[in-house]
Amino acid sequence: MSQAAAASAGSLPILSDRYLDPHAYPDGVAFLDGQYLPMSQAKVSVLDWGFLHSDATYDTVHVWDGRFFRLDLHLDRFFGGLEKLRMTIPFDRDGVAKILHNCVALSGHRAAYVEMLCTRGASPTFSRDPRQAINRFMAFAVPFGSVANAEQLRSGLKVAISDKVRIPPASIDPSIKNYHWLDLVRGLYDAYDRGADTALVLDFNGNVTEGPGFNVFCVKDGKLSTPAAGVLPGITRRTVFDLCAEASLSAVATDVSVAALKTADEVFITSTAGGVMPVTTIDGAPIAGGKVGAITQRLMALYWKRHDDPAWSSPVHYP
Ligand SMILES: *Cc1c(COP(=O)(O)O)cnc(C)c1O
Repeated sequence: MSQAAAASAGSLPILSDRYLDPHAYPDGVAFLDGQYLPMSQAKVSVLDWGFLHSDATYDTVHVWDGRFFRLDLHLDRFFGGLEKLRMTIPFDRDGVAKILHNCVALSGHRAAYVEMLCTRGASPTFSRDPRQAINRFMAFAVPFGSVANAEQLRSGLKVAISDKVRIPPASIDPSIKNYHWLDLVRGLYDAYDRGADTALVLDFNGNVTEGPGFNVFCVKDGKLSTPAAGVLPGITRRTVFDLCAEASLSAVATDVSVAALKTADEVFITSTAGGVMPVTTIDGAPIAGGKVGAITQRLMALYWKRHDDPAWSSPVHYP
């Protein structure tokens, strides 16, 4: 029986298999409405502006070997986003840090992907005025995930350059970490169609910006560069700058053209979800003979080595 026929027969088919909860949630713990819950129970209303209008900001920090990495910087960025979006939450920095800590401790994960987020929320009257909405803070800890899998970390990612343009910074301030991902998701599908693992998206001038949840660097003659504008100032990107300063490597934020990227000696991407990750193919052509470069390897090692440095990390106290 068709859906229309079922409706006219007075028996709407509201519970087909398609609508059943698949119970396929990652193992983890969420904080929502004052409670800690298993991931499978952490749900939001369909009337939430975060869902209906992508009106939200978030941040992701990771826990590696039982320690948060650079949590202060993630909290700075999250609270900066809240302020720019005129959102308020009933917790200060210490309150949010404590909630994140509890999510991880209760989950038991020693390697975790930890997200804090705030949506515009919903209003009791479904008002169209965002000022009427009650902002909603949530957080969760699930197992650590990476943009690149183990094999891609070893041999490098294949990247396709999307022919669509990244949403411009004049429309959406990219320093507010956000869920406006339609350009990035379209880039991913284009990349898969072309046999690549992931995508990089350009700006209106044809310069490289970023990819789905990561920044990009290229290395030429021992010097590093990364796009300056139209990107989220990633904390892994910032960490690469810090590591370069310590290792006396030159690193600058500037315009990066497609030609510069394709003729680079080395290319890598950076994200909290995976750290420093090598790229060895762009649009089907090998970068630097298709091998993971020496500077990339060095930065990958330095990056993970710093995860137990007390200046950059803090312990989770598991029950
Ligand atoms: C999160 C994100 C990044 C990477 O930022 P990190 O702080 O290094 O994780 C880059 N670009 C976009 C669009 C992002 O959402």
